[in-house]
Amino acid sequence: MFKLSIYCVIALIICSSSVSARPLVRQIKSAREFERLVEKHATSTGLPVIADFYSDGCGPCRQIAPVFKQLAEQTGQENAVFVKINTQMVPELSGKYNIRSIPTFIFFHDGKQVDLIQGASGQALQQSISGVVNRSQRENVKLTKEALVEYYKEVDEETSEEKIDSVYKKCVEVKKKNNPNKECLGGAATQLARRLKQKYEKRVETTLRFTDEHRKPTDATSSKDSKDGSNSSGSASSSRKSHTNPDKPNLHLASKEELMEELEKRVEAEEEAREEEEDDMAEFEHSYVPSDFPERVTIIGGGPAGMSAAIYAARAGLKPVVVAPPGGGQLNGKGVEVENYPGLANVTGPEVVAHMRAQAAEFGAVFECELVTKIDTNQHPFKVFTNSSEITTHTIIVATGAESNWLNIPGEYEMRGGGVSSCAVCDGAAFYGMDVIVVGGGDSAMEEALFLARTSKSVTVVHRRDEFRASKIMAQRVIDHPSIRIQWNSTVKEIIGEKVLHETNDEDGDESVDLDNAQLYVSGAILADVHTGQESTISAAAVFVAIGHTPSTQFLKDIVDFNENHSGYVLTQQGSTRTSLAGVFAAGDVSDAIYRQAITSAGSGAAAALDAERWLSEEGLGNEEAEFEADLMAELMAEDNDTASNADHYNVYEDVAGNVAGMKESSAATAEL
Ligand SMILES: Cc1cc2nc3c(=O)[nH]c(=O)nc-3n(C[C@H](O)[C@H](O)[C@H](O)COP(=O)(O)OP(=O)(O)OC[C@H]3O[C@@H](n4cnc5c(N)ncnc54)[C@H](O)[C@@H]3O)c2cc1C
Repeated sequence: MFKLSIYCVIALIICSSSVSARPLVRQIKSAREFERLVEKHATSTGLPVIADFYSDGCGPCRQIAPVFKQLAEQTGQENAVFVKINTQMVPELSGKYNIRSIPTFIFFHDGKQVDLIQGASGQALQQSISGVVNRSQRENVKLTKEALVEYYKEVDEETSEEKIDSVYKKCVEVKKKNNPNKECLGGAATQLARRLKQKYEKRVETTLRFTDEHRKPTDATSSKDSKDGSNSSGSASSSRKSHTNPDKPNLHLASKEELMEELEKRVEAEEEAREEEEDDMAEFEHSYVPSDFPERVTIIGGGPAGMSAAIYAARAGLKPVVVAPPGGGQLNGKGVEVENYPGLANVTGPEVVAHMRAQAAEFGAVFECELVTKIDTNQHPFKVFTNSSEITTHTIIVATGAESNWLNIPGEYEMRGGGVSSCAVCDGAAFYGMDVIVVGGGDSAMEEALFLARTSKSVTVVHRRDEFRASKIMAQRVIDHPSIRIQWNSTVKEIIGEKVLHETNDEDGDESVDLDNAQLYVSGAILADVHTGQESTISAAAVFVAIGHTPSTQFLKDIVDFNENHSGYVLTQQGSTRTSLAGVFAAGDVSDAIYRQAITSAGSGAAAALDAERWLSEEGLGNEEAEFEADLMAELMAEDNDTASNADHYNVYEDVAGNVAGMKESSAATAEL
């Protein structure tokens, strides 16, 4: 009985193994899944991983999607791994890889990012793909110590054992990561082989680091065991290897439990592969597609205000269009938990917005992933323009939030990306263990300082007054923090930097300096005392500017009234989200200079959707599509009636036994005559 069941399990495993192939283009669902995948291919197959960062509301992403798939097909699964990452669904990865525009393609080889291209150019994509594939093949090399010893025996007998040892060690040291057995591998081995050939005019014998068997397309993440033995799961597949292929489980030696585990794993992989195919179909399901009728509600902005307006409008059946670039507004910069949003615990800013977006999409909101460049309200319905589309709409909800302010001092612009930042969550990790400066005295500055204090050696908060403008609790946390120093009554006059010459390790271990690419990096700042004017210099590796925001309202100039007391903020009517122009509503930070919180923005977003819905009802607008359909139906019915009056009708009836019988009415009438 036991024997029989074990054979059944083996049979099932064998059957399932034939379908657990890696999907052609894998849809990544979590940051962990992606990181595991990159690591897996660095250690077990040597295949490059090519990631398409996209969003389902982005026109260029839609255009390039079939090209990406086609290139994946052409390249072949034995040469590269292709994945897609929805920036809205996995915001952590967009933050980690600093995705600033979409589509962005990132190329990983040997666990490292080796190339990046932005935009939907099929040609550029193709070039980069072949570049990374060639590199991965070129570097799929292992040079053994024995082969090196043999080589020197042939080319230069005099070479001492110590010298050979040191050459080999140098090669091993270059490849520190993903090299648990301390071997001479990959790019380092390729370079060493090339140098030896140049010097002695004879090739050294190398072997393949990963064989075709390793690179063939089986599901990479479902199998937890790696070639190097790292990540060993202890399952049948890792504990009892086959003699012919060490990565294949020897099913005959496995216990029943191990077999069951293996089976479960393969079934999971099979399901995952099927899901990928389905996901692939649904990839752009929530994208905006122009219609013949005006939209009822167009929401500009994809932060908490825009998303909550979208949820309300979608639930009211208004099928809103949300126009916003990728990223979820200001909360996107909050990689730590949002602690004050009622009902939400343990979720980061990007996750909050991603959840809101998913909820809106579920109820029928569609997305156009673009920046609004202008709106035309001279006629009704209005027109909303982006660089690639034009949306005709009855109402507009403006939820464009606010943008970071800058100091506009020397060094600030030049060193953005080189230590000057307005987002600690995005860039803070790069300054781990270093001294940093935060400029400002509001809540944002407190947030940035506290965030940075977790990873930086010290944080100096520079503030021009002698007390913070931030909420008391946040200010007190900063004042009490042992790693935070406060420079009161001071302004930053200049950000100073120095050119850092990148020392690169040649793959064969030689150090070289890239003089052409020397970049300017922050080394400190010159501060000025606001009372005495006295200047002082402090050293720091980064300056985080947190001095508030400016509402994004450029496209509304001369269209709606602005708040006289708060420059740039849209004026709304008391107790409403209505602006000075009928049919245009404003919600969130763009019209709120006082509260500027996620919850208040979400609240006013909901109010704006309700206001828009009411306005459409009052004006009797937005029913064109339904009216058109009703007219069409009426016409068809009329046509049908005309035809019906001349046609034969069936007089169908059911007898007591339930048999259906019938006779043409015209025939019946004739029969009666
Ligand atoms: C670092 C940081 C931490 C924060 N932490 C918290 C917190 O813990 N709790 C809390 O309640 N609040 C917090 N806030 C404040 C909160 O993020 C904001 O109040 C909230 O995000 C405002 O929402 P919004 O939708 O009005 O605007 P935003 O979130 O700013 O969203 C604006 C949206 O409009 C889009 N947009 C702008 N211009 C255009 C255009 N021309 N065309 C199309 N789209 C456009 C943007 O891309 C974005 O999608 C924090 C803010 C920051 C900066």
